Amino acid sequence: MAEHDLVIIGAGPGGYTAAIRAAQLGLNTACVEVESELGGTCVRVGCIPSKALLEASERYEEARHGLGVFGIGVSGVELDLAKMMKRKDTVVKQNTAGVAFLFKKNKITRYTGRGRFLAPGRISVDGGDGASTELTAKHVLIATGSSVAQLRGVELDGDRIGTSTEALEYATVPGHLVVIGAGVIGLELGSVWKRLGAKVTVLEYLDRILPGMDAETASIAKRIFERQGIEFRLGVRVTGARATGDGCTVEMEGAEPISCDRVLVCVGRVPNTEGLGIDAIGLALDQRKRIPVDEHYETKVRGVYAIGDVIAGPMLAHKAEDEGVACVEHIVTGYGHVGYDGIPNIVYTHPEIASVGRTEEELKDAGIPYKKGVFPFSANARARALASTDGQVKVLARADTDRVVGVHIVGPRAGDLIAEAAVSIDFGASSEDIARASHGHPTLSEALREAALGVADRRITI
Ligand code: NAD
Repeated sequence: MAEHDLVIIGAGPGGYTAAIRAAQLGLNTACVEVESELGGTCVRVGCIPSKALLEASERYEEARHGLGVFGIGVSGVELDLAKMMKRKDTVVKQNTAGVAFLFKKNKITRYTGRGRFLAPGRISVDGGDGASTELTAKHVLIATGSSVAQLRGVELDGDRIGTSTEALEYATVPGHLVVIGAGVIGLELGSVWKRLGAKVTVLEYLDRILPGMDAETASIAKRIFERQGIEFRLGVRVTGARATGDGCTVEMEGAEPISCDRVLVCVGRVPNTEGLGIDAIGLALDQRKRIPVDEHYETKVRGVYAIGDVIAGPMLAHKAEDEGVACVEHIVTGYGHVGYDGIPNIVYTHPEIASVGRTEEELKDAGIPYKKGVFPFSANARARALASTDGQVKVLARADTDRVVGVHIVGPRAGDLIAEAAVSIDFGASSEDIARASHGHPTLSEALREAALGVADRRITI
């Protein structure tokens, strides 16, 4: 029986980051992971491979249609999908190997197998070969992440009717791809296959895309995606999908079925809390199968903690990372904190969509008086030079104190631009603070400054 100070179950961004920080703080740390590669969904079949394909498909699209405006004539552009996929796999390998290197460097003990509680502080690691190892630890951190949510009536066949995992692997470009769910995955992977030549139809239950994001920003984004050729059908409830002959059929309430080549189901994710032996330690899950924790990520069982997608809050890799660090720092030092108001949310389409803080709808619902400053990228010099002028920055600040409470961007490099807004919110900045800070010229970041100036009706370059 091996003994550790801390055993972490799951080596995704939450688990591996927590493991590294714990080891830095001097804990004898072990991490149990069922997959042979470290990194979790994000690194193996999520954020990293999707970004590799988004980048590649964007360059293909640009080479075909986006360079003429710069005076660059290109002909004979060809898609080598197999090579594109191989490069994506290489990027994934670089990252899984990177995590393995960091485990070695920080002397984190790695166990391959499925972790399960025998008792608080006692974990069994069940290998695929029937062998199991028992570990004991004063502290156990659950960081097992989430899995794709299934849709009743939709028969996933692991091929033509699949999830994001399959959509990162298609061997040929589908003639017609139907995406169920206009959330983050639907827009990102829908964009990839649209750029590579597929007809893409997105079916969404609600009357808008990207639920939870600022409505005005989502509606601008929708118009841009429609111009790119993605077809949206909103207010559509999918009741079934099945493979038929060499295609698929998708059925909906109150509308004719659609025939297509492939179906991507992306209607959310559910926490991985089954099979962990949670009941063996007397823990109960909430209604959405998440693990209840206190403000230091400790469950009601002393010494058992949980972070990331298995607890409440947005299912985001960086949220899990931040929680992992705060959790182990609190264990060791007695301090550890996550500033939830400053967690950004990014959709890596083109243009990108990025948000931090409250939406206008949330502020209205909470009865918080606010002022709004908006600046379009069409009036930003750098965006013009980049030929990427779609979208805008919106800054929301409290009407009484001018404190920035929300920033919503749709536009070029929004995912990078949002970092300034996240830091501003974390540090309690006012819109005047952002407006008075010097911003390089000509940069896209000036659009954020101008939107901040707009809160006081003082925009300069429009
Ligand atoms: P999501 O929750 O973002 O979107 C799911 C969408 O499906 C919603 O719009 C929902 O209304 C719709 N839907 C649900 N049932 C439906 C039905 N029967 N018919 C039609 N539409 C239906 O979920 P996702 O896109 O699957 O992403 C899963 C998780 O992964 C999210 O929590 C997301 O935050 C995370 N993720 C994040 C990123 C990123 O940060 N860039 C990228 C990928 C995934």
